[in-house]
Amino acid sequence: LMADYFAMNHDELTAEKTALEAQYKKFQGMNLKLNMARGKPGPHQMDLAMDLLKMDNYITDNGFDTRNYGELEGLPEARALFADVFGVQPGEVFVGGNSSLQLMYNLVAIGMMFGFQDSPKPWGQVEHRKFLCPVPGYDRHFAITEEMGFELISVPMSPDGPDMDMIEKLVAEDDTIKGIWCVPQYSNPDGYTYSDETIRRFAALKTAAPDFKIFWDEAYIVHHLTDEIIETPVLLNEAKKYGNEDRVFMFTSTSKITFPGAGISAIACSENSMKYMCKRFSTMIISYDKMNQLRHVRFLKNKAGVLAHMAKHRRRLVPCFDAVKTTFAEELTPCGNIAHWTNPKGGYFISLYVMPGCAKRVAQLCKDCGLTLTGAGSAYPYHKDPDDSHLRIAPTYPSLTEVETASALLCVCVRLAVVEKLLADQQ
Ligand code: PMP
Repeated sequence: LMADYFAMNHDELTAEKTALEAQYKKFQGMNLKLNMARGKPGPHQMDLAMDLLKMDNYITDNGFDTRNYGELEGLPEARALFADVFGVQPGEVFVGGNSSLQLMYNLVAIGMMFGFQDSPKPWGQVEHRKFLCPVPGYDRHFAITEEMGFELISVPMSPDGPDMDMIEKLVAEDDTIKGIWCVPQYSNPDGYTYSDETIRRFAALKTAAPDFKIFWDEAYIVHHLTDEIIETPVLLNEAKKYGNEDRVFMFTSTSKITFPGAGISAIACSENSMKYMCKRFSTMIISYDKMNQLRHVRFLKNKAGVLAHMAKHRRRLVPCFDAVKTTFAEELTPCGNIAHWTNPKGGYFISLYVMPGCAKRVAQLCKDCGLTLTGAGSAYPYHKDPDDSHLRIAPTYPSLTEVETASALLCVCVRLAVVEKLLADQQ
């Protein structure tokens, strides 16, 4: 019989701990090997895209042979496809290779080595250079700027997006702040979508640094999990209203539409930035894989085609997300305020916030029982969650049965960690 842990006395908590340890032992006996760490699509999702590989004609409708070098900015048809998805002009789109993360890395590296067209000097020569990181956020974003010697500044997230008062104040005062990482739609990991007002304030930002850049990662722009197709103002278009378009780099990829690691990626930016970026990229690469770009265009066609394909993904993903949320509600809510979690309308993750001081312990308990979670704290700069509270749950890769088992085990671990902490705090 479950009851509010905060209303339990020492003996009741001790009895609850014994009961939970027995449940935990049962899970240990199952020799589980489960993984809810990374946001990977399941095999069924990738099966949906196998027709992509059946194509054998690599000449475009205009007679262009995609098998050869050329078109560094991307195949015009692929630029048009992503322009449709982003809501920008085809001339503002660059189509790259199999990873948007690599495009982001390369742009930060260009900033470091050469600066941008509006930089007083290369970022690498700026002492105490800084980058803003809405938290919790995507660990691989933070890793790029950490490795390149930026000091990472955490900015708290809310369901409307990052704290804009704080951002406006910081960037207005400090010209060593060179940029910010954003996942504006179905954010990784909370699943929040920035409000129209947040996006407008990003477009209008007044910055001390002339070369401040917004890395606007639309990784989940078409990854809806409900009937509601959430559409937001397009940052690049909004920024033009304030003359700030050179500050914006939008990214996306088909990693979670077709194949992670074998899809195509894209940038949307101003024509100025496009010219500057292509000049730098042309030293590095002659052209990206346009055969894969053409395959994707023929398979996905346009934004409507992409959305139709994503609807098929959704049918598999929704039950997995539901299983996690239902288990949390049934197993955690009766115990009082020991945890809360997000209810994403899209994307790949659920954030679980456990009682402060317990997240690391929960992840360890899970690991010792065969369930791998993303390391506690990894959604924060330097992997340091100041509250030791956040866990990122990725329900997409395992089968539904596995997600059900993993969620049940996770709840036992959360309750056990909380009871342990409450008992320790009583001493
Ligand atoms: N951005 C975000 C927010 C992501 O969650 C991921 C994948 N987990 C990526 C980028 C990686 O994208 P890509 O495969 O295009 O490099």
